[in-house]
Amino acid sequence: MVGFGYDVHRLAPGESLILGGIDIASDVGTVAHSDGDVLLHAIVDAILGAAAMGDIGEHFPDTDQRWKGAPSGQFVEHAVNIITQAGYALVNLDATLVLERPKILPYKQAMRDRIAELCGLPVERVSLKATTSERVGFVGRLEGVQAYCICELQPR
Ligand code: MG
Repeated sequence: MVGFGYDVHRLAPGESLILGGIDIASDVGTVAHSDGDVLLHAIVDAILGAAAMGDIGEHFPDTDQRWKGAPSGQFVEHAVNIITQAGYALVNLDATLVLERPKILPYKQAMRDRIAELCGLPVERVSLKATTSERVGFVGRLEGVQAYCICELQPR
């Protein structure tokens, strides 16, 4: 079974930029109730989506004190637990980050390692790509960052 996830967060000066669970040195960061980790949010939605188990907002509402200020890695671990209990195993995931800057390449391996750890996958099953928006649109104007993810689940 295949799942797809998408997320976007607004960027502003003076905020932290955390992507794939890794702190990125940047002059702009994500504005969010949570840690604003747009990549992990897209991954959560892909995992939940593959099992037709709703979306990140249903499972981790802003209003639930349990998740207040929680790092997004906890959302990924919880999503993996939910699908595991439902009888599925994650096979692989493939994600794309869209942001104008900074360059993601220096952080990519650390992000893949962290995502693999959170998902209980070998790192070879975690693909991460990054692209700019060619200075076009809200991503191109540094107003936001986007992430897409697709994943496969199989019955355990
Ligand atoms: Mg989000």
